[in-house]
Amino acid sequence: MIKKSNFMEVTFSALSVNEGFARLCVAGFCLQLNPSLDEINDIKTAVSEAVTNCVVHAYPKMNGNVTLRCEIEGDVVKITVLDNGVGIKDIEKAREPFFTTKPSEERSGMGFAVMESFMDKVDVSPNNNRGVCVTMYKHISRLQEARNA
Ligand code: ATP
Ligand code: MG
Repeated sequence: MIKKSNFMEVTFSALSVNEGFARLCVAGFCLQLNPSLDEINDIKTAVSEAVTNCVVHAYPKMNGNVTLRCEIEGDVVKITVLDNGVGIKDIEKAREPFFTTKPSEERSGMGFAVMESFMDKVDVSPNNNRGVCVTMYKHISRLQEARNA
């Protein structure tokens, strides 16, 4: 079978009002893979955490943007969430469960752990030395498609 590929990218202001937009956006794009409700909820939750991190941490002193990129390659969806903010000094440390630089704001330091548990693979890297690039992968089972056949 020839694997179909598809792509979308959207950029929006790093504002909490846009977290819901990002969730809907990624869910709408992934519908073509016929995901189960669990799979789509996993993706929405992971995207929410990544976008919330940009909103909360990336731009403490200025306004900025978030880019959400989504690529479908066969049965795998690759989602990238990018910002151009302050970046993360120690990425390995930041990924540890319960690590947060904002304990006073009732952050639990579980965002990256949540992304990892809901997606198959999560990569975190500097975004061209300015900001953060989170890339997440998830295989979609297409069980729904088989059920409907
Ligand atoms: P929670 O997600 O549970 O509310 P949190 O956001 O602090 O808390 P994580 O999402 O795991 O926890 O992120 C860990 C830390 O990594 C953050 O406290 C912050 O210091 C840093 N971080 C994460 N994303 C970014 C980002 N886009 N820009 C700058 N720093 C970030
Ligand atoms: Mg977080």
